[in-house]
Amino acid sequence: MLKVLKFGGTSVGTLDRIQNVANIIKKIKDEGHDVIAVVSAMSGETNKLIEYAEYYSKTPKADEIDMLLSSGERVTSALLSIALNEMGYKATSMSGRQAGIMTDNAHTKARIESIDTTEMKKAIKDGNIIIVAGFQGVALDTLRVSTLGRGGSDLTAVAIAGAIEADVCEIYTDVDGIYTTDPRIEPKAKKLDKISYDEMLELASLGAKVLQNRSVEMAKKLNVNLVSRSSFTPEVEGTLITKEENIMEKPIVSGIALDKNQVRVGMYGVTDKPGIAASIFTSLADENINVDMIVQTVGVDGKTDLDFTIPTTDLQICKKVMEKFKTQAENIDYNEAICKVSIVGVGMKSHTGVASKAFTALASENINIRIISTSEIKISMIIDLKYAELAVRALHDAYALDK
Ligand code: ADP
Ligand code: ASP
Ligand code: MG
Repeated sequence: MLKVLKFGGTSVGTLDRIQNVANIIKKIKDEGHDVIAVVSAMSGETNKLIEYAEYYSKTPKADEIDMLLSSGERVTSALLSIALNEMGYKATSMSGRQAGIMTDNAHTKARIESIDTTEMKKAIKDGNIIIVAGFQGVALDTLRVSTLGRGGSDLTAVAIAGAIEADVCEIYTDVDGIYTTDPRIEPKAKKLDKISYDEMLELASLGAKVLQNRSVEMAKKLNVNLVSRSSFTPEVEGTLITKEENIMEKPIVSGIALDKNQVRVGMYGVTDKPGIAASIFTSLADENINVDMIVQTVGVDGKTDLDFTIPTTDLQICKKVMEKFKTQAENIDYNEAICKVSIVGVGMKSHTGVASKAFTALASENINIRIISTSEIKISMIIDLKYAELAVRALHDAYALDK
């Protein structure tokens, strides 16, 4: 079999952990499989590099950030390859560019446009274990290094698995699979054997960083057999992320996600006339800002209030964009002391009373819900940040997810 394996930050967090990864790869290779391993930077490394840049500038040029951040995964890829060669295995490290990963020009959140697998195929044929530096590619137009957004090594692994038609893509992290909620917040959380692509995509998009959302989207699109498992207990089987029809028992609610990385932007006394919302959200989209929940209140006296949420990482650039609209609103404020809790489950499509149960659970903890949004398979609520963990545990209990 051809296996694509991905090892996240904590899995390669120290030199010993990198040796541990080399041992996992050795075992899989010894079983007769071909291996492409994708690695993250050592844990904390990417944040440290961002802090270095912020020492000089609050809004550094995105392509320079990419040049900087991409170095983290290159370090681990070379170290892992060195470790494997020392153990007597033929291994070769590759940057995103060497692995043929071409992206668009949206630096710091680039999209993969294509993958030329020629070099990887050649290296595998020559008996190599390939170690790819995750999270990066090269922008087609400029040939500058690009990065794929935080957590983007997951995307590198899935995209390579899809392009090279690997048999499986295993994402090794510090938990042994996908749980009903973050086990660090709710120790009673239960591990799922399987979860559908759509539910996993919602959980990931709504804050469960165990898998990067774009990697799940791509896995679904390319039909990649995706497994989440642990490099700390590699003998334990993980969670399979698969098509909904492969899952016999569909729970109403599969999991709870928490996203603390959200800012609520409030625009008060906005002129209530056609085209305002269009121009605001077009300007935000032009800057690649991911706007999520949008609420507009009923207009009074030609004025209305407009509330929306964005990721904290987009705050500086959002403030810059909003400068343009200062004269169109009486006041604009930014509230970082909020978070988003969400309930996800495909079974919601065919059941009633799911939402009311959530509202009741939060009410009984005296937690005020500030914004609500729903889709077919999820309910999201904005609440005050100080209640984040309490809300997750209350909801986990309300749906008896520990049972
Ligand atoms: P890596 O560095 O390997 O990419 P991450 O830190 O990005 O790992 O993701 C793993 C973490 O995701 C876990 O340590 C866990 O706290 C968190 N997590 C959040 N939601 C879930 C969930 N539903 N199931 C499992 N882990 C989750
Ligand atoms: N090192 C990058 C990050 O911390 C990418 C990754 O780990 O997947 O976001
Ligand atoms: Mg991750």
